[in-house]
Amino acid sequence: MHILMHVCCGPCSLYPLKLLRSKGHEVSGWFHNPNIHPYREFKARIQAVRSVSKQRDFPIEIDSNYGLTQFLRTVVFHETVRCFACVDMRLEKTVEMAKIIGAEGFTSSLLYSKYQNHSYIKKKGIELAEANNLHFIYEDFRLGWQEGIDESLALDLYRQPYCGCIYSEQERYDKKLRKKIQKK
Ligand code: SF4
Repeated sequence: MHILMHVCCGPCSLYPLKLLRSKGHEVSGWFHNPNIHPYREFKARIQAVRSVSKQRDFPIEIDSNYGLTQFLRTVVFHETVRCFACVDMRLEKTVEMAKIIGAEGFTSSLLYSKYQNHSYIKKKGIELAEANNLHFIYEDFRLGWQEGIDESLALDLYRQPYCGCIYSEQERYDKKLRKKIQKK
C-alpha cells in the first residue's frame, strides 16, 4: 500500500520507515509541524529530516512555513490541553496531503514517541481515516524505541531536547516549572 507518513522529526521517522517498508509498503513522508519553535529549532529539525530523506532514499515533502502564529492562535487560552489540538492540526493536514498525492493510507511518526499521548493519536487517526475513506496504518512504533535511537546516533542526526512548542521548551528547562508540574 502507498502510505503517507507524517514525519514529526528525523530521528522518530527511522524505525517506522524501516518497519513499514519491511511489511512491503511504499512510504512517502510529510513534514508539517507548526508546533516547532523557535525558528532556529524548526530549521535544525528540517535539516535532520532532509538528512534522513537523503540517507534512507525516503521521499519527504517538507512544509517549510514556520507555523508559530497559526499554532499560537489555535492553542492560546487552551494551553493545558494544547497537545490534543497539536496532534489534530498535524494529522488533519496529513489526511489532506494523502488525498492530494493519492496515497491509500496514512500514519505518523508520533506513534514512535514514548512522550506523546499514544492512545489519542490512534483514536484521532482512526476517526480521520473513517471520515475520509483512507486507511490509518496503526503500529506501536514505540517497540522500536532503542533501535530508532541507535540508528539516529549512527547517522549523526540532530536529536531535539524537547517536544517542540515554546511551552514544552520552558517545561524542559525551567526547573521551578518542572517541579510544579511534577507535584500535580
Ligand atoms: S508539548 Fe509537544 S505535543 Fe504538546 S503542544 Fe507542545 S509540541 Fe505539541
